Amino acid sequence: MQELKDRILKDGRCLGTDILKVDSFLNHQIDVGLTARMGQEFARLFSGLGINKVLTIETSGIPAAYAAAHAMGDLPLVFAKKTSPSTMVDGVYSAPVKSFTKGTVSNVIVSRRYIGPGDVVLLIDDFLAHGEAAGGLYEICRQAGAQCAGLGAVIEKKYQGGAEKLREKGLKVQSLAVITSLKDGKIEFE
Ligand code: 5GP
Repeated sequence: MQELKDRILKDGRCLGTDILKVDSFLNHQIDVGLTARMGQEFARLFSGLGINKVLTIETSGIPAAYAAAHAMGDLPLVFAKKTSPSTMVDGVYSAPVKSFTKGTVSNVIVSRRYIGPGDVVLLIDDFLAHGEAAGGLYEICRQAGAQCAGLGAVIEKKYQGGAEKLREKGLKVQSLAVITSLKDGKIEFE
């Protein structure tokens, strides 16, 4: 998605070779117009697959997932939680996810009320790095007996190998911008 790549080049900052900071439009302040157009692009990339639900992980996956769910015909959007609130009294699905930025492992959880057999689920996240977050969401779909139609990532850092790992599980992976290197503060796209 050229508009997204242009924005990354304009506003993205490399934190070493591993992390891209895009707080000005994706991770802290949100450009809602750009996000809406991302949603339309995800809807185009994943059309015709019978998707009836979108699943993401709090917090930074939510804007793009919301935009995708809206563009796909106002589908329900479910976000996995990183902590279990006391109001979550029904059963839950849970999967361990290692945080890319913090290095800690935590269980992400989704109530059993909101995903189940018969659902065809699209996973959406802001970044795809090692594939841990998406792998956790995929595991939640598996526990629910739902079909996982694929993963849409806003930004994929290809050299961190997540997409390859997920494709090995048979998952369709589509990213709106694919980065091949962040060396020497220079952002390179595929
Ligand atoms: P993964 O689980 O694929 O290793 O990493 C994806 C998750 O880590 C995303 O949900 C995202 O929040 C975070 N993440 C990974 N790489 C980056 C990055 O370069 N910048 C930012 N801001 N977050 C990242």
